Amino acid sequence: MPVYEYECDVCHHHFEVNLGFNDPRPTRCPDCQSNALHRVYGCSGVIFKGKGFYCTDKGADGCGCSCGSCSHDHH
Ligand SMILES: [Zn+2]
Repeated sequence: MPVYEYECDVCHHHFEVNLGFNDPRPTRCPDCQSNALHRVYGCSGVIFKGKGFYCTDKGADGCGCSCGSCSHDHH
């Protein structure tokens, strides 16, 4: 099941959710209840892609890693 990362623009709360294709996407921040969530396209959804490299580094702009095996596709 893919892991989706979201961050709140208001309180910058960062969280991950496991969602199936038919599950509703979160629309409100679990912390401050704002609807200013945006999707973070990190590496955790593609951890077994390619060479099986596990990337956990993420920069301020999302995926900041330089491992070269991360997908920056927007799924
Ligand atoms: Zn928030």
